[in-house]
Amino acid sequence: MKILVTGGAGYIGSVVSEHLIQSGEEVVVFDNLSQGHMEAVHPRAAFVRGDLADFAAIDRVFEEHSVEAVMHFASNTLVGESVQFPLKYVGDNVTNGLNLLRAAIGHGVKRFILSSTANLFDQPERMPIDEAERIVPGSPYGESKYILERILSWFDRLEGLRYAALRYFNAAGATSHRGEDHLPESHLIPIVLQVALGQREKVQVFGGDYPTADGTCVRDYIHVADLAQAHILALGDLDRGSRVYNLGNGNGFSVLQVVQTAREVTGHPIPAVIGPRRPGDPAVLIASSERIRSELGWAPKYPKLRDIVQTAWEWHRSHPNGYCK
Ligand code: UDP
Repeated sequence: MKILVTGGAGYIGSVVSEHLIQSGEEVVVFDNLSQGHMEAVHPRAAFVRGDLADFAAIDRVFEEHSVEAVMHFASNTLVGESVQFPLKYVGDNVTNGLNLLRAAIGHGVKRFILSSTANLFDQPERMPIDEAERIVPGSPYGESKYILERILSWFDRLEGLRYAALRYFNAAGATSHRGEDHLPESHLIPIVLQVALGQREKVQVFGGDYPTADGTCVRDYIHVADLAQAHILALGDLDRGSRVYNLGNGNGFSVLQVVQTAREVTGHPIPAVIGPRRPGDPAVLIASSERIRSELGWAPKYPKLRDIVQTAWEWHRSHPNGYCK
């Protein structure tokens, strides 16, 4: 099958492309390289540089390639930034998604996978969080993903589009060739590993007074290769109908547990200091992925935090400056 991967030069999109190609699919990557890296694009993927804000550019991709399915990763993704610049999120993320959808529908493409987010669950009533949890977006970022989920559900009803919305919890880890490289870096595991590489002096822990066992936030870290596998399974099952899945390991780890694990993996003392809370961070986010396990037989290959951090460490050690040479 020929699959259009928007954001295929980014962290998750590039790893999913790698897995699609390994499983025999054809991939067309569409990316504006504003956050992604050309080096992350799989050499066997066709690459089109372009911006989803430009309808003609994305429409041309469907014109020129016989795309059969879309995986949509290209997005602004930072919760904090979305609170500062809401229109970049409820504006651009939504408009760009609509351009993509309009082009896909216009060319008769009826399979669509959306990167969605745990940021839909700002006030969870149960932990772990399953798909029955009340949706309360925690930021304009979460809202933009929820709007896209809602729009997709209308196209399912009205146009026969089949979609899967995959709500990632904390993507982490790396394959041998592809890992996490953001500028500036804001994610915990890469920051901790940059300390181990001697590129930062210490890690600042955002808040030590949360109602958790050690006072730091608890998150569900899921290996990016396990996310990739979930996309492949979801695509393979789309003909049976649209669905939404929460995707995590089902285990929560605190910020201090992540730092401690990284110390064990890297052998570096990784100094950590407790600082103020980061606005918008809920205390605990853990996914229940029972639905995708039972419906699609998905099971993470990397359930252990140590293995996730180990793969990230191997990538960071072999790419100390990220993708930059
Ligand atoms: N965090 C931290 N220090 C950092 C970066 C992140 O304490 O320098 C915490 C953050 O508050 C959250 C967890 O680590 O509780 C994971 O944050 P990340 O930004 O990696 O992912 P998010 O949970 O925001 O998707």
